[in-house]
Amino acid sequence: MGGVLSVRTRPTRPSSMPKQMTPWQVRLWKRVAVGWEGECWPFEGYCHPTRGYGQMGLGSRDQGLGETHRLAYEFFFGQIPQGMCVCHQCDNPSCCNPNHLFLGSHADNMADMKRKGRGSGAIGSANRNFRISHTEVEEMKELVSAGMTKVAVADRYGVTPQYVGQLVNGRWRRHGV
Ligand SMILES: [Zn+2]
Repeated sequence: MGGVLSVRTRPTRPSSMPKQMTPWQVRLWKRVAVGWEGECWPFEGYCHPTRGYGQMGLGSRDQGLGETHRLAYEFFFGQIPQGMCVCHQCDNPSCCNPNHLFLGSHADNMADMKRKGRGSGAIGSANRNFRISHTEVEEMKELVSAGMTKVAVADRYGVTPQYVGQLVNGRWRRHGV
């Protein structure tokens, strides 16, 4: 109305963000395309090749990699209860908009993925073992040596825990990678 140009200026950060942020929080929000409340805010850095989650180093080797939607959830809502997953209402794995994130159990998450046709059954996971890159192998070894369980690492990379065990023991080349 009135011929006024309606150019929207995108917010650079959510209004509820505290001013003091830790270094990883600063790095996280620098790489998230923060939009309006109802939009997806995709992480624009490295994303997991099959799962699509954004991933980010937490600063030191001990801390390993964090999944950006989980980091975003913790940033806004506090610590994620042990064993809980952060799920996406928007089915956009790299999205970090807190309005699109909700907590679910691992079973909820699997059921949700299956419903959306993204579940990787046992066969898919096993096949995935053969498509792991050298970089990912190194990352997985690092995560295990940093104290992450093989099951957790396997889950993160969509491979079997047995496979992670083989990698850590240096027998991964046998599988033709
Ligand atoms: Zn979203």
